[in-house]
Amino acid sequence: MKQTNGRMLQTVSIEDLRMLVNPLLTWYDKNARNLPWRSRPEPYRVWVSEIMLQQTQVKTVLPYFERFMAALPDVEALASADEAELLKLWEGLGYYSRARNLQKAARTVVEKHNGILPASYEQLLELPGIGDYTAGAIASIAYNIPVPMVDGNVLRVLARLLASPEDIAQIRVRKRFREIMAAILPQDRPGDFNQAMMELGAAVCLSNTPNCSDCPVKMGCAANQQDCVYLFPFKSPKSPRRIEQRTVLLLLTEGKALLRQRPKKGLLAGLWELPNLEGWLGHDMVASIVEQWGIQPLQLERLEDGRHIFTHIEWQMRGYLVRCMTGQPPEGCIWVDAEALESRYAVPGAFKIYMKYLLLEPE
Ligand code: SF4
Repeated sequence: MKQTNGRMLQTVSIEDLRMLVNPLLTWYDKNARNLPWRSRPEPYRVWVSEIMLQQTQVKTVLPYFERFMAALPDVEALASADEAELLKLWEGLGYYSRARNLQKAARTVVEKHNGILPASYEQLLELPGIGDYTAGAIASIAYNIPVPMVDGNVLRVLARLLASPEDIAQIRVRKRFREIMAAILPQDRPGDFNQAMMELGAAVCLSNTPNCSDCPVKMGCAANQQDCVYLFPFKSPKSPRRIEQRTVLLLLTEGKALLRQRPKKGLLAGLWELPNLEGWLGHDMVASIVEQWGIQPLQLERLEDGRHIFTHIEWQMRGYLVRCMTGQPPEGCIWVDAEALESRYAVPGAFKIYMKYLLLEPE
């Protein structure tokens, strides 16, 4: 018995949870979405799909996954890919360190494991960018090794099945839920069970609108049985995002825009961006800074304001289109036309709102 919001709630045991394994697998066999990494669950495909799916929805990932597999069909191809090509394939998915870590790990796999992802949860964990969850995915789905995968969907489903009043954002609680998953995982179909729990969270046990009447495990769900589903999962309030005001400059000359490469470390590391400055600056200040860069501005035009949300930061952007005299780009910058931009340079989605003006320019 546990207390939540003044109510005494009955939870369920590991034995009770084990009783739900078969009904859930039967439901999964009938209802699993047909996804390309499921129809061919090879280690490389499972790995790439799971990295792409971090913080990203399935429908967004699908075209990226197909394009990525066509361009870099195996570990060797990924290991030897040009970084610019890799980032271009990733452009728009965000969190670009995922792509770089994929390549780092691919190089390690080529050097130490003959190009084959190791069939060992512990060895998978040693690869860059592979944590508990991804190692669990590759091990259980591709190699049938009984280790759990616990993502946000699984945490939510378990919190409701158990009617657990614990905060699922806490590492201690996640660890406990992971142990519970490990204890109920069927030895013969670990990958399917992991995916069934996630699929249940994605399709039925939804965050705001759980569809309990169609749920294959409703008879064993403590929250449903006690009519208190909406109390779970419990989460402590998040700390607010940091707001940053930035002035973004689209400098144009002869159908080309000035791009600047970001530092190798930190937010959007190493990607190309439109030059931007802290704060919201006025016309005169923008003109003076552009001149300090050794570029002669001819005409300034205010563009619309923009907003981009990263995990912990929100950029509130003021945009300017600056027509300039042709000249040498400042250090760390290049002039690119629309074609080169499309084919070679990965520019974060934050600048999309302003990049469209380059595409509208006559050559
Ligand atoms: Fe989620 Fe409702 Fe199913 Fe419980 S019965 S697991 S709350 S959908």
